[in-house]
Amino acid sequence: MLRFKLVYSDNYYLPIGTHVFPAEKYRRVHDRLLESKVASQDDFLTPDPANDQDILLVHTPQYVEKLKTGTLTPREELQMEVPYSPELVRAFWLAAGGSMLAANYALKDRVAFNIGGGFHHAFPDHGEGFCMIHDVAVAIRRMQRDDKIRTAMTVDCDVHHGNGTAAIFAGMRVPTDPLPSRSASTLDTGSPKVRNAHAGEVFTISLHQENNYPAWKPPSSIDVDLPDGIGDQEYLAWLDNALSSGLRQFDPELLCYIAGADPYKEDQLGGLNLTIEGLKKSDELVFRVAKARDIPVMVTYAGGYAQKIDDTVTIHCNTVAAAKEIFG
Ligand SMILES: [Zn+2]
Repeated sequence: MLRFKLVYSDNYYLPIGTHVFPAEKYRRVHDRLLESKVASQDDFLTPDPANDQDILLVHTPQYVEKLKTGTLTPREELQMEVPYSPELVRAFWLAAGGSMLAANYALKDRVAFNIGGGFHHAFPDHGEGFCMIHDVAVAIRRMQRDDKIRTAMTVDCDVHHGNGTAAIFAGMRVPTDPLPSRSASTLDTGSPKVRNAHAGEVFTISLHQENNYPAWKPPSSIDVDLPDGIGDQEYLAWLDNALSSGLRQFDPELLCYIAGADPYKEDQLGGLNLTIEGLKKSDELVFRVAKARDIPVMVTYAGGYAQKIDDTVTIHCNTVAAAKEIFG
């Protein structure tokens, strides 16, 4: 039995038909974790859906009303890039409930997973990029409202910029010192551009491929705009750099790790060059840093569009295995 909980429901499945987003990945990760004996049935918790008040901590009443009444405009539905249905609304409310539950268990057990969520492209007033509701932001806002935490840090390793996260937690930004440039670069992949601006109660870090969706990247507290084709070593160095810099500036009571599987070299929507082993090392790095500083970690999954869905499942399962190795 694990020393932490995995929040999961079969109803995480997103009813979006044939789509590049592998909606069945959640069930396959759940099944693989059991088959490979990384986890046992007792490690899983079933979430309840968030209620509307929770969703409204992040999203506008007008947007929530449109979702509940099926009155998105065709343009809004197109921008979301997943076909609207009441069942899809239920799946996103459930994902938000799952992240809320995982955040609570992270405070208790030092780490907890939502085997889903990470919908970092959702904005307060609209959805985009397969994301309807920003489950991580809802969880953070609910924890703050309940006085369980005051501050949080998001560490977003999805290959795509966390534009929704950045917009939601924008607050007042003050430019701070740039990250120290790395001295020993062995790969000729060009230098990432790093933008750095301090946030209020939630500090947002995004490592992403610069030349990828979304075109407009509202500033996070730290943005690492990676050039195309970055590999394991370079990526890990920038992740280490961003974490150190962020934690020098900010002392979070909860770290929300958005563990996207799409920096993988065989991802259909990504242009970085990480291996499955490199991605696991990223997981280990985030967990090691959080453990050393005694910061609870809540994990969500975000994207993953490997040509072979088995690879996406492996990458997501490895994140649980990494937590098991580091947290016991
Ligand atoms: Zn992504």
